[in-house]
Amino acid sequence: GQDLRGKNVTVAGLGISGVPAAKVLTGLGARVTVVNDGDDERARAQAADLAGLGVTVRLGDGDTLPEGAELVVTAPGWRPDKPLFAAAREAGVPVWGDVELAWRLRDLDGRTPAPWLCVTGTNGKTTTTRMLASILEAAGLRTAAVGNIGVSLLDAVLGDTEYDVLAVELSSYQLHWAPSLRAHSAAVLNLAPDHLDWHGSMEAYAADKGRIYEGNQVACVYNVADRATEDLVREADVEEGCRAIGFTLGTPGPSEVGVVDGILVDRAFVENRQKNAQELAEVTDVRPPVPHNIANALAAAALARAFGVPATAVRDGLRAFRPDAHRIAHVADVDGVAYVDDSKATNTHAAEASLVSYGSVVWIAGGLAKGATFDELVTRAAERLRAVVLIGADRALIREALERHAPGVPVVELDRTDDGAMAAAVAEARALARRGDTVLLAPACASMDMFANYNARGEAFETAVRELG
Ligand code: ADP
Repeated sequence: GQDLRGKNVTVAGLGISGVPAAKVLTGLGARVTVVNDGDDERARAQAADLAGLGVTVRLGDGDTLPEGAELVVTAPGWRPDKPLFAAAREAGVPVWGDVELAWRLRDLDGRTPAPWLCVTGTNGKTTTTRMLASILEAAGLRTAAVGNIGVSLLDAVLGDTEYDVLAVELSSYQLHWAPSLRAHSAAVLNLAPDHLDWHGSMEAYAADKGRIYEGNQVACVYNVADRATEDLVREADVEEGCRAIGFTLGTPGPSEVGVVDGILVDRAFVENRQKNAQELAEVTDVRPPVPHNIANALAAAALARAFGVPATAVRDGLRAFRPDAHRIAHVADVDGVAYVDDSKATNTHAAEASLVSYGSVVWIAGGLAKGATFDELVTRAAERLRAVVLIGADRALIREALERHAPGVPVVELDRTDDGAMAAAVAEARALARRGDTVLLAPACASMDMFANYNARGEAFETAVRELG
C-alpha cells in the first residue's frame, strides 16, 4: 500500500476527477493543495467545499507548482506540455493521473485487489468495456465497467463493493499518466489519428496507448487487421508466459479469436484438448451485428477468455448486452428511410466504420474537426453516399474533401448554430433520401461548436426525427 500521510500532494485541476481525488487524499492524511486554471463560479463553489475539509485551493493559477510539493495528482485531460509538469519534472516530483492513483491505492488496508481487464483504442472502448462486463457478469463474477465510463476507478477501488474483476476503459490521456499500471490482460482495439493536438504526435499517441500492455500477466489482445496494435504488443515488456492474442473478422489462426461461418470462434483458449477451436456465440448475438461491432465483441470475448470465462458466458453476456445511447442507434423508419444516430462518431475513423455498415446513405456530418483531414474517409465512403448535409464550424473541410473525391454527390451546407439547426439538417436529409436509404448522423467531428456534448447532439437529432413521424 501507499502511505500518503503527511505528504504534500498537489492536485491539478478541480472537476470530475480532481475533487474526489482531493477528498480521498485528504482522508488518507495527505496535505492537499489543489491548483486550477479557471476561477469561475463553479470553481469557487468547489473550492469552498474543499476548504471545509482542510484543502488549500489556488484558483486561476494552474501552472505554478506549490512550494514543497512531493507528488502531483493530475486530471487526465491536462496536457503534458503544461508548465506545471515541466516544473514538477525539474523538481523531481512524480506526476500521477487518476488511474495511477487508483492503481496505487488498490491494496490499501490490506485489501485483495481485483484484477483489471483493460480496454483502450481510438474507437469502440465504451462498447467493448460494457460487452466485457456483461460477459463477466454472465459468468457469475462480481464486476463493473469502470474508468473512463460510469463508475470512477477510485470509487471502485476504495468503495465497499467487492469485485472479483474489473472491466476498465482507459483513454490515451489516462494511460499517459499511469506509469505503473499492470493489467491482468488488456486490449488495444484500433489506432487512428485522434487527439494529436494533446499528445503532440501520432508516435506519442501510439506510445501512450501501448502503455496498456506493459506488464500484462496473461494476454495482450490486438487487432489482426490493424498492424499498429500488433506492433505495440511486440514493443511491450510483459510478464513471462503472457500471450499475444489476435482478434479477426476472418478465420482465426491458432492464437486468435475470429469468425467461421457466422460463429465467433476461439482458437486461443481451448478448453477441450481434443478440439482445436471453441465456439463462443453467433454473429447475430452481437448488437448491432455490424463489422466493427463484431470486432468489439471478439476483443471483449478474448479478454474474458483470458480470465478463464466459459464459452457459454460469452454467448449469454453478448445476448444481454445493450449498446449505450448515440452509438449507431436506430431511431425510426420514416417513409421507408431508416434514421440512425451515431453522434458518438466524433472522429473520422468512427464515422467510417458506421458509414460502411450501410448501403446507401444520406450523411449528416460536421462540427469541430480537431485537426483531422477527411480525404481518406470521403474516398472510402464515396460510393455509398446518396447526399451529404453539412453542419458546424469546420464543415468546409468536409465539403472540400467531397469536391475532391465525391464530385457527383449533392451537398447541402447549413450555416446555422441555433436550436433549430439539427431539425433543419434532418429536414434537408429527408428531402434528399430515397426509399431504402439510411439517414446517418455520424459527424466525424466533435460537437462543442454547437452542442454541450455528443449526447446533446444526438438528442437533438432523435427529437427532430421523431417529429418527422
Ligand atoms: P469510445 O469509447 O472509444 O469512444 P464507443 O464504443 O463509445 O467508443 O463508440 C464510439 C463510436 O465509434 C461509435 O459510435 C462508432 O461509430 C465507432 N466505433 C465503435 N466501435 C468501433 C470500432 N471497433 N472501430 C471503429 N469504429 C468504432
